[in-house]
Amino acid sequence: MRMRNKPWAMDYLTENSHIVDVDGTYKTKIKEYFGNDNDIHIEVGTGMGQFITTLAKQNPHINYVGIEIEKNVLIRVLEKVLEEGLTNVRLLLYDANLLDEYFNKDEVSKIYLNFSDPWPKNRHEKRRLTYKSFLKQYKSILKDDGVLQFKTDNRGLFEYSLVSLNNFKTEFLEVNLDLHADEDEDNIRTEYEEKFSQKGFNIYKIVVKF
Ligand code: SAM
Repeated sequence: MRMRNKPWAMDYLTENSHIVDVDGTYKTKIKEYFGNDNDIHIEVGTGMGQFITTLAKQNPHINYVGIEIEKNVLIRVLEKVLEEGLTNVRLLLYDANLLDEYFNKDEVSKIYLNFSDPWPKNRHEKRRLTYKSFLKQYKSILKDDGVLQFKTDNRGLFEYSLVSLNNFKTEFLEVNLDLHADEDEDNIRTEYEEKFSQKGFNIYKIVVKF
C-alpha cells in the first residue's frame, strides 16, 4: 500500500513506543511488551488497521500484534489505537520476512493475512506471503493448535495459496470461494475488502492448521 510520505511519521511512531516497536526492542519478548500471558494473534500487513482495531475492541482478553512494513501506513493504525484507547494492541514496524526472529517458537495462536500483495509476476513468487518460506515461519511461531486465516479478492493469489498450503501439508479447516455470498456476522471487513467487494469482486477465504 502506497501512502504519501509524511516526514513526521517516524517521530510519531517513536513517541508512542508503549504501543509501537520500531527497532525490535521487544524481539523475543513480546509478552513483556503486553505485560500479561493472554493469547497472541497477529495480522501481517495491517494496512490502515480497521480489521485489527475492530477485533481488539471486541476481544479485550486477546493480545493483538499488527505488523506493517510501511511507516506512513502504520501511523494510521496507531491513530486508531490511540483514538479507541486500546490497551491490547501492539504494532511492529517490521518486515514479515523475519517473523521467526521476532516471535518465539509456539508463541502465537492465530495469524491473519488480509488482502496481501499478490505479486503476480513469477519472478516475485518469493515475496508472496503464502510462499513456502513464509509458511515455514508461520508454522514455527504458531502453537500446535494455532491457525492461519487468509482472505483475498485476488483469484491468482488464492489459487497459488491453495497449492502452496496443500504442498506444505497443512490441514484445511475452511475454503470459501465467495465469503460475502452468505457473510457471517462475525466477519470483519478490512479496508481492501470493502473496496473490492463494492467493485463486485468475490472474496476468498482459507483457514488452515499446520
Ligand atoms: N490488510 C489490509 C487490508 O486488507 O485492507 C492492507 C492490504 S495491502 C494490499 C497489503 C499491506 O501489507 C500493505 O500495507 C503493505 O505495506 C503490507 N506488507 C506487504 N509486505 C509486507 C511485509 N513483508 N511485512 C509487513 N507488511 C507487509
